[in-house]
Amino acid sequence: MSTLTHLECGACGATYDPNHLHTVCPACGKPLLARYDLARAAQTLTRASLAQRPPGLWRYREVLPVQDPANAIDLGEGGTPLRHVSRLGELLGMPNTYVKDETLNPTGSFKARGLCVAVSRAYELGARELAIPSAGNAAGAMSAYAAAVGLPAHVYMPADTPAPFSVECRTLGANVTLVDGLITDCGARVKQGVEEHGWFAVSTLKEPYRLEGKKTMGYELVEQLGWRMPDVIIYPTGGGTGLVGMWKAFAEMEALGLIGPERPRMVSVQSEGCAPIVAAFHAGSEHAEMWQDAATVASGLRVPAAIGDFLILRALRESGGTAIAVPDGEMMRWADLLGATTGIFSSPEGAACLAAQERLLAQGWLQPDDLVVNFITGSGLKYAHLWQ
Ligand SMILES: *Cc1c(COP(=O)(O)O)cnc(C)c1O
Repeated sequence: MSTLTHLECGACGATYDPNHLHTVCPACGKPLLARYDLARAAQTLTRASLAQRPPGLWRYREVLPVQDPANAIDLGEGGTPLRHVSRLGELLGMPNTYVKDETLNPTGSFKARGLCVAVSRAYELGARELAIPSAGNAAGAMSAYAAAVGLPAHVYMPADTPAPFSVECRTLGANVTLVDGLITDCGARVKQGVEEHGWFAVSTLKEPYRLEGKKTMGYELVEQLGWRMPDVIIYPTGGGTGLVGMWKAFAEMEALGLIGPERPRMVSVQSEGCAPIVAAFHAGSEHAEMWQDAATVASGLRVPAAIGDFLILRALRESGGTAIAVPDGEMMRWADLLGATTGIFSSPEGAACLAAQERLLAQGWLQPDDLVVNFITGSGLKYAHLWQ
């Protein structure tokens, strides 16, 4: 069972009762993090018990927020393959290259993990209608989980969003509104719905539980490596939920006695057309500045200002990691190479990891025999227009 105890602000440390709906910290407006009774969780969440459980995200239920198993929506999310990709590794000159194939999640991206847990928990806590501003995979994932549990869902997308994203949401039963404007304008429309109709918004890191869903990538990865840590994790960073989530997972795993103090070096990769975290990392700042005129084919990386910027930067620095920007053309080149050597059709975000790996090796930041795990975060199917 869940051992959730409280919510804690990632910035000011204020704590809150987790048993009703929360968004950001009421005191300072920053993200809230879920905290658990890890001593109690450690009694049942062991290497041996995990070996007996079915694959998927809910096998980590002690460290997930849902209290009643009847509220845990299961569309088959998580439990994705971790593949040692030797032919791709040969191209890179790094034999210990791995990919975590998140394209196999429901709705074709790892957004399913976050929305699975956020929607399950929102339903448990009595949310009656859900909403999201999104130009990409998050909207499809929310629509799927809302449909599965029977909650009305409202999606606001910029009018120039490629058709597959809006068609998916509509077909999954969501009310889709195309907004003449940017994602920030979509956010304003959602805010209006929240105020006027009492919708619950599931924007990333503006509610506590998408992070919890995405942290399961960290648990899963280490277990799949036979309880070893990789040397390096490369993560395509937009809002940074997965990177912050995995860093949180490793701390929890150490407290649970599943691993020791060893940690991977965490790498954020962004597009040269939108790289606020990369700029802040190399400037030595604790917060990122808003990126002007953000433009990239990788819609998941088009996040000019991330509310969890300080959490991303903290994880990169504590891990001895780094941040790097790559051009969109290199993402597309690596999407082709990844596809032809592994059989995975990746969106540009995931392919960005390989462009980063190539550059970091050339810079001498990576050594040829480092064990590197790349997150292939989404399928290329909804992005087919990029190849046309
Ligand atoms: C949303 C998204 C990302 C970025 O994820 P964050 O956790 O928000 O940084 C990367 N890749 C794909 C395919 C996405 O949809």
